[in-house]
Amino acid sequence: MKRNIGCPCGKTFSVETSEEIDLDMYPEQIERITDGSFMNFVCPGCGKIHKPEYPVILSWPSKKATIEFLPELDRGEFYRRKKDPPGAETVIGYPELSDRISIIRDGLEPAALESIKYYILLKAEENYPDAEINIRYQGKGPEAIEFHLHGIRDDEVAVTRVPLSLYDKTLADFAKHPKGELFVSLRTRSYLSVQNMLRPDALK
Ligand SMILES: [Zn+2]
Repeated sequence: MKRNIGCPCGKTFSVETSEEIDLDMYPEQIERITDGSFMNFVCPGCGKIHKPEYPVILSWPSKKATIEFLPELDRGEFYRRKKDPPGAETVIGYPELSDRISIIRDGLEPAALESIKYYILLKAEENYPDAEINIRYQGKGPEAIEFHLHGIRDDEVAVTRVPLSLYDKTLADFAKHPKGELFVSLRTRSYLSVQNMLRPDALK
């Protein structure tokens, strides 16, 4: 699909974007999503890098995953819409997209990860009630899963490590009680995210 990007330098340029990408066929896109260069477009006039968010369906047959990516600007629209693409899991905004792709790549269960994120955020908000805190999955080591917390202090990232044993316990919990209260609250239709626990009442 052809799209136009307007740059503050005055130049408008058009770019070609895909509406659907197969990540098995284009594995370099996995790297680009996780390193943040996915859908970067350089203005031919001044060299500025633009990072617009365009909706796209990412299919990943080898992981049995189909991900619908929606721009952050469409978050409200998602909660209002009546129909989701069949068989797809929705993520909203680039940070969530990068998290989810990394989590699937690392062979982890997204529902367990989102519930661990929720407990970490709950604790962080208790300690820093005035901060607007975001949590990002950082990676899996031999003994722990690492998360980064943004927003506790300006320009500072707090690192939190959760032992793999806690992940295993959460995963077993999810396998046994997939309809448990927390797991159900983390999901709105096709959208599984800790954001569902935090969203403003106006969107409910
Ligand atoms: Zn420009």
